[in-house]
Amino acid sequence: MDSLVLLVLIIALFAAAVVGIGVGLVVSSRRKSAPPLEAPVAPPETPPETVAPEAPVEAPAPALEKPEGTASRLVRLRQRLAGSQGGLGRGLLALLSRDRLDEDTWESIEDTLLTADVGVAPTQELVERLRTRLRVEGNTEDPRVVLREELLTLVGPDMDRRLQVSGVDGQPGVILVVGVNGSGKTTTVGKISRILVAEDRKVVLGAADTFRAAAVEQLATWAERVGVDVVRGPEGTDPASVAFEAVKEGVDVGADTVIVDTAGRLQNKAGLMDELGKVKRVIEKQAPVTEVLLVLDATTGQNGLIQARVFSEVVNVTGIVLTKLDGSAKGGIVVQVQRELGVPVKLVGLGEGADDLAPFDAGAFVDALLG
Ligand code: GDP
Repeated sequence: MDSLVLLVLIIALFAAAVVGIGVGLVVSSRRKSAPPLEAPVAPPETPPETVAPEAPVEAPAPALEKPEGTASRLVRLRQRLAGSQGGLGRGLLALLSRDRLDEDTWESIEDTLLTADVGVAPTQELVERLRTRLRVEGNTEDPRVVLREELLTLVGPDMDRRLQVSGVDGQPGVILVVGVNGSGKTTTVGKISRILVAEDRKVVLGAADTFRAAAVEQLATWAERVGVDVVRGPEGTDPASVAFEAVKEGVDVGADTVIVDTAGRLQNKAGLMDELGKVKRVIEKQAPVTEVLLVLDATTGQNGLIQARVFSEVVNVTGIVLTKLDGSAKGGIVVQVQRELGVPVKLVGLGEGADDLAPFDAGAFVDALLG
């Protein structure tokens, strides 16, 4: 009997243990399967997590941004250029590839070029050269190759497009940036400073657009992001005095380059001449201006060209920055503005991003036109 009771007890204990383990497994598997049930609740908690990594940026000592290097920037921006300008080349190629190049076709080619802001004289020249090369009886030349060569000649493959960012005798190079308000001047100053910082150059900025507090603030923000000094004065200060102080600071701290943003009010020519003339004169008490960049908005077409002409008459422009080329299919303006002013396009703006500025390269530009 006793052994029977003992056996029953053992069986009972064993059964209880099996049930207990079973219950435990269910609980743990429920625990494991719990998160999916909670998942729908999770999203509202996600934003703080994404914000968290940015917290150090707002800390007292903000982390400096590392501007994009030239190589990757060029690859990225070439694609963007091809995206915005590819239509012109593709349109021309389609016309030039027709079996018969009759007068109507040549007229359409002219219209395509004029619509892309190439300008009347350069358009006529290009069409004349294409006619001569492609209309020859039994011509076997590939229209794409001919068009590429002729467009390249038009854009000017041999122009010196280097920025003069260095001074002589240990002095900083001084870049004066001019252009009408809204053309992208201040943004361009910020973007150039990033290119120079990426090349390990020491940069000082001068916020000489003292008529607009917002422009000064905007420039200070650009400077902070990459740890560059910016010299500024109260709103309404004489722009020349800010420019003077900025270059003085550049000399004192041994900067490689000082970039001076200027006011771009559309005032009369005499006023503009006085203002920019004075800015340049006082700068040169410290160090020579090595580059005068005129910033031009590519979307403004003929109006932009008229403004460009006024600036080039009051100050000796040495290079053009064509901004907003991403927002315009009128890349032909490159040809026209170089002709009008007799100076090369040195940089192109291809977006609002901090590193969306690239050195202008004639070959890459023509390739982008051809899509
Ligand atoms: P400023 O008055 O000449 O100093 O012009 P800003 O630098 O303030 O620029 C005017 C506007 O143009 C701003 O919204 C810029 O972000 C924009 N901008 C400047 N360059 C470019 C560019 O290359 N592409 C595009 N899409 N926008 C640009």
